[in-house]
Amino acid sequence: METETAEVSLEPPKIQRLEESVVNRIAAGEVIQRPLSAVKELVENSLDANSTSINVVVKDGGLKLIQVSDDGHGIRYEDLPILCERHTTSKLSKYEDLLSIKSMGFRGEALASMTYVGHVTVTTITKGQLHGYRVSYRDGVMEHEPKPCAAVKGTQIMVENLFYNMIARRKTLQNSSDDYTKIVDLLSRLAIHHINVGFSCRKHGAARADVHSVTTSSRLDSIRTVYGVSVARSLMNIEASDSDFSSSSFKMDGFISGSNYVAKKTTMVLFINDRLVECSALKRAIEIVYTATLPKASKPFIYMSIVLPSEHVDVNVHPTKREVSLLNQEIIIEKIQSVVELKLRHSNEAISYQEQTVESSPSSSMGTSKDLQLNNLSPGPKSQKVPMHKMVRTDSSDPAGRLHAYLQTKPHNHLAEKSSLSAVRSSVRQRRNPSETADLTSIQELIDDIEGNCHSGLLEIVRHCTYIGMADDVFALLQHNTHLYLANVVNLSKELMYQQVLRRFAHFNAIQLSEPAPLAELIVLALKEEDLDPESSENDDLKEKIAEMNTELLKQKGEMLEEYFCIKIDTHGNLSRLPVILDQYTPDMDRVPEFVLCLGNDVDWEEEKNCFQSIAAALGNFYALHPPLMPNPSGEGLVYYKKEKAFTNPEDGEPSKNTGDDVEMEVDIDHELFSEAEAAWAQREWSIQHVLFPAMRLFLKPPTSMATNGTFVQVATLEKLYKIFERC
Ligand code: ADP
Ligand code: MG
Repeated sequence: METETAEVSLEPPKIQRLEESVVNRIAAGEVIQRPLSAVKELVENSLDANSTSINVVVKDGGLKLIQVSDDGHGIRYEDLPILCERHTTSKLSKYEDLLSIKSMGFRGEALASMTYVGHVTVTTITKGQLHGYRVSYRDGVMEHEPKPCAAVKGTQIMVENLFYNMIARRKTLQNSSDDYTKIVDLLSRLAIHHINVGFSCRKHGAARADVHSVTTSSRLDSIRTVYGVSVARSLMNIEASDSDFSSSSFKMDGFISGSNYVAKKTTMVLFINDRLVECSALKRAIEIVYTATLPKASKPFIYMSIVLPSEHVDVNVHPTKREVSLLNQEIIIEKIQSVVELKLRHSNEAISYQEQTVESSPSSSMGTSKDLQLNNLSPGPKSQKVPMHKMVRTDSSDPAGRLHAYLQTKPHNHLAEKSSLSAVRSSVRQRRNPSETADLTSIQELIDDIEGNCHSGLLEIVRHCTYIGMADDVFALLQHNTHLYLANVVNLSKELMYQQVLRRFAHFNAIQLSEPAPLAELIVLALKEEDLDPESSENDDLKEKIAEMNTELLKQKGEMLEEYFCIKIDTHGNLSRLPVILDQYTPDMDRVPEFVLCLGNDVDWEEEKNCFQSIAAALGNFYALHPPLMPNPSGEGLVYYKKEKAFTNPEDGEPSKNTGDDVEMEVDIDHELFSEAEAAWAQREWSIQHVLFPAMRLFLKPPTSMATNGTFVQVATLEKLYKIFERC
């Protein structure tokens, strides 16, 4: 007996085919994750049916009843038997249709799914019929023949007892009663986009609807009806477009709130090609502009509708995927960002007359005509297109690039993490919203210093220059009107980072290091780098002592560093988190040791203002776009990557200098190192063009010192250059 059981347990388990109803129920649970997803699918079906009125009734957060009635084209009697089978749809017949699909649904899964996890009843009437039909479904099939009944135009679909057969799901949902709020939010968003459709949503038995919109021709009217008068009053119309099909082609129009709109959270209603979607990169980019331009109104209300060629958007193939990625995301975001900024500045000026105008002079049109000719002169980077692999993103939180692979950006929730520490609670509360941050006078003073010290001529150049390309490792060539300038990218980025640290003070997102780095080791490393003779172990003890003391010091300051600067040092003295200073940008991690040493040595911990300033400066220096530490492989640095094969032939144990391959070997280059260096330099150049310059245009207030310290050097005026060419 005993041996028998032992043998049985050794045998591999038998593979069985799951019953179809089980398979379907599992799949259904994925499509319909919660009542909200059922409502979304039903309402989208109603929109696809060309309805002009859609009414939603919800009981018990949707678990007891969801009822969606529309006045659309209805469902044919003959189609009712297969209506709720999986993969039955009227919207798609061949794969190619997917590329041009305009309807919301196309997978033919939603209704079927609902019948596997709830009780579905459909009442529908098509045009010209005297009566409609009503029929109920279970597990994909009709429970009985359709029964004739009286009906008004369109379709009514009722889903009862959602998740009646998924006890765990039902329990979790019952405890979180917020689906009704989410449903109201969903319908509000749909209502302000589809203004030719009237929406309503109410709780079962309630007399009043929580969303009620009527068809209108004015979007603003619709926003007023749905979101209220005070929201609508603060809105401004906004538009942007780009018709360059090769790089980016889009049209955007929408409404954004101005300085008198104050809210705790950003509301961003985004439609791309008429689909309600989310795009956190775009949302964040707009929030940055608000924080920089209207600190008091830094949580805006935004409605935006973007239309793109459909081949530039990945159709929402996964049923619940709301986050989209776009081709040329950076370019589109950058364009929208600058339009928003311009709008906000204008509106700000209208209110407070102090702000100086930064509008470009009419001469800028001249600049663009010359721009073309200039392009011919410089065959270089200006005309370069973004490399293809940078264009397509699967996820905006996973930016392309070599360094990024080791890092992850995470929103950093100070409040949640700190709530148990009663000692700091009050100070946290004080900084709960950004306008209150400004109450920290030392930070405000530092920001005021930046504003007061801004050079208006340089500001004009920075705002309206065209980036042409890198002239060498440090200087970028810029054109402004008819002038050409060389600008020191290291200085500029250092200053920009410094200023942004102060502006984002205590409100950073976090870069999570994939492996926490021990401070003491970093400091020893940095001290060794400073040594003239890095190989000598002469002062090793001393270095370790210094490292130990600095680590202790930084651990003591850890709480402050984390709260204000998002520099996290854990109790073991490891650095585990760094702030995001510019979105889509992570610093060169080779410079971490230098940065940590600088924090320990150069920061004034005594006086508050000096302390903040020196930490911001240390961060600025660390995040600046220094040339990578590896020599530039496309310049004189190439020699660095040539290796002497003499040392790489371990087989005969002898240096192979004297073999016949000798000559060939000497010019052999270390390909791994070479391509790593190439990638680092390419990444930097890409960041300069696509992150640094766009951000500079928006945020940098160049200090007066930059006019004289060699940061900007005027190299030529185009007029003179043209004269020279004319003579040739
Ligand atoms: P999909 O929307 O992906 O086609 P669904 O399961 O959501 O799949 O719907 C299946 C089909 O039922 C649709 O293709 C459509 O023809 C029909 N249908 C569903 N709801 C409605 C409605 N409210 N009015 C008219 N037809 C509908
Ligand atoms: Mg559908």
